[in-house]
Amino acid sequence: MEILKLNPVFKDYIWGGTKLRDDYGFKSSLEKLAEGWMLSCHKDGENAVLNGEFKNKTLSLVVKENPEFLGENGKKYEYFPILIKLIDAKNDLSVQVHPDNEYAMRVEKEYGKTECWYILDCDEDAELIYGFNRNLSSDEFRKAIEENTFMDAVNKVKVKKGDLFFIEAGTLHAIGKGILLAEIQQNSNTTYRVYDYGRLGADGKPRELHTEKAVDVTVCTPPTRDTNPEGELITGNGYSEQLLTKCDLFNVKKISVTNEYSDVADEKSFVSVLITDGNGTIDDTEIKKGDSLFIPANYGEFKICGNIEGIITRV
Ligand code: ZN
Repeated sequence: MEILKLNPVFKDYIWGGTKLRDDYGFKSSLEKLAEGWMLSCHKDGENAVLNGEFKNKTLSLVVKENPEFLGENGKKYEYFPILIKLIDAKNDLSVQVHPDNEYAMRVEKEYGKTECWYILDCDEDAELIYGFNRNLSSDEFRKAIEENTFMDAVNKVKVKKGDLFFIEAGTLHAIGKGILLAEIQQNSNTTYRVYDYGRLGADGKPRELHTEKAVDVTVCTPPTRDTNPEGELITGNGYSEQLLTKCDLFNVKKISVTNEYSDVADEKSFVSVLITDGNGTIDDTEIKKGDSLFIPANYGEFKICGNIEGIITRV
């Protein structure tokens, strides 16, 4: 069994910047690199494998032919459960909300979307929108969208590097300008746009809003979680690690390696390793900032050596 290195897929949405090229060294013919899809089996942008016996196959095909790679937890899902992205917001993203599984399966025939954001870098004054600053009724929410006053009711939060936002399905949210983050989310591309700052899309027209669906699914209350990682920082010999968040959909931790770190891909889940800084090795494979690795379930112990910052995700 081997570790698969994945080829990211880029999206040039209008709000994107160039940090994924300038800071991460990704190569792409797109001018703006708004999003890099780092672990993706989604039809809108599938990763291919860059190395080894599965080279040039899509990850979706590899896991279809080798379902045991998903592990016991991963196999419970109808299709590949998560999607991991790097997002570079040079400008504000639209204010949006995602449905939960029940609504999304019924209306959109795909999973809903709970997601989490880990802030990798940000401007000093960067902020984002996270839920409401008070309780609203659905009618008040609809009225505020129609009358263009709902920005008065949103909860604006200043961000700093290392913050963790858990965005449960139904939570109103928007990434603000000057923020670079890693997003771990359910494998879904269903987004209901509520407000787009009056901007025009690439075709010169305003992008579509989805007010009725947004009103259906939005939980109009302030968020209940803070923005700290859930776990304590654990320092070992040559590494530190910290649980960022865990829920029944995914478990995400951050590692910081100065010498050597080892972990195990057991029978329960595949393991995603996203390298957010530095360089080194993972077993026999060389790794550097921006690399994304898929480790099959039951692979066993793997060792990360060198100077590495990374995010490790399981389902
Ligand atoms: Zn979102």
